[in-house]
Amino acid sequence: MTLALGCIADDYTGASDLANTLTRCGLRTVQTIGVPTEDFPLPEVDAVVVSLKSRSVAATDAVTASRAAGHWLRGRGAAHVLFKVCSTFDSTDAGNIGPVMDALQADSGDAIVLVTPAFPGTARTVYQGNLFVGAVPLNESPLKDHPLNPMHDANLVRVLGRQSRSRIGLVDLATVARGTETIRERLAKLAGEGMRAAIIDAVFDADLETIGQAALDHRLSVGASGLGLGLARGLVASGKARGEGVATDSAQREVGGATACLAGSCSQATLEQIADAERTMPVLRLDPERVIAGRQEVDRAVRWARELLPAGPVLIASSATADQVAAVQSRHGREAAGHAIEQAMAAIAEALVEAGVRRLVVAGGETSGAAVDRLGLPGFLVGPEIAPGVPVLRAVGGRHGDMLLALKSGNFGGPAFFNDALALMR
Ligand code: ADP
Repeated sequence: MTLALGCIADDYTGASDLANTLTRCGLRTVQTIGVPTEDFPLPEVDAVVVSLKSRSVAATDAVTASRAAGHWLRGRGAAHVLFKVCSTFDSTDAGNIGPVMDALQADSGDAIVLVTPAFPGTARTVYQGNLFVGAVPLNESPLKDHPLNPMHDANLVRVLGRQSRSRIGLVDLATVARGTETIRERLAKLAGEGMRAAIIDAVFDADLETIGQAALDHRLSVGASGLGLGLARGLVASGKARGEGVATDSAQREVGGATACLAGSCSQATLEQIADAERTMPVLRLDPERVIAGRQEVDRAVRWARELLPAGPVLIASSATADQVAAVQSRHGREAAGHAIEQAMAAIAEALVEAGVRRLVVAGGETSGAAVDRLGLPGFLVGPEIAPGVPVLRAVGGRHGDMLLALKSGNFGGPAFFNDALALMR
């Protein structure tokens, strides 16, 4: 088998969002959890998205995992590899986007790498190298208060320059608007000037299609699901993928079983979604201090859920407002608090599945990663979309048999997200 496209995603929810985008563009797509084993039974597909949990780990660990994923994908014939990052470029000056890009570029042999987190469908656009979230620059958006990767600079040429060994250039919107050939010329010029990577502007989906075609000249690119869309359309247009998408009949078989929702994201959108869910299902709000103190709070949550599950869906949330998060972090440290709460949510997920939950909704990128890790799921079939960028996933090859999941990045979904998800997960 020869893959048209291999993708390495730096978190699970971003990976499912990308797999969903590729599927919508007609690529038959499998999402794996971690780097698959050599004997992973890969079906006939156009694209594989390898989901890592490398966004917030030490840069050296992110590099090692990403190179292993790249090696696996190239071994299955992937001509082009997309390193998929967050559309809000979540990272710190220590990494991990720059160090991973540098290592994958060394492995690919490419002279220059195109980089853009633009995803107009979710209101992420890049102009003159500056990332906008809706109408405001990144550093004025809610991402300035993110618990793990607060973003204080919207200029991605500068942001990436602080993380990478490479000098970073810019391909501006005027160049993109003139088409693929002009982009190629600009990249050759930048490479000649010693640039090894370039942020490329994109404001509309049409820009991403132009960029996708130019990127396919190379073996590596870096971007969000928007660039995935551009690459997928380029592959279909050039006949390298047939554009049929996945058969959905097996994805529509009902799984039944109990239903639970978990929220570890502290994003504004998730806080509103929890408030909305409170009107239709029992909600338990965890005490973060007690979660960090020990196992008792997890046990209390599991006992609470087990009693209520036979009557219908429940929601367990650690989520809190920015002020409350800051107070917890000042007492325990940002990483320690985040890790302890993620692990507690994962332990709750595991106990609930053991208690018969077969439909599980998780809000929060890191939170979802921790939960999926704990459940030991090797891969997913992509199903229908709940909200833009959030598909229903059907577990493939897991030890608990048939199971449906929805893994949501904090900011995604409308106010009724939890109920929207449950309506599609039967
Ligand atoms: P998002 O997708 O919104 O970024 P994540 O799950 O990736 O959500 O990140 C949220 C982080 O905040 C996680 O590390 C989580 O454990 C942590 N967290 C959750 N609840 C709290 C809380 N009440 N106080 C401090 N940190 C929290």
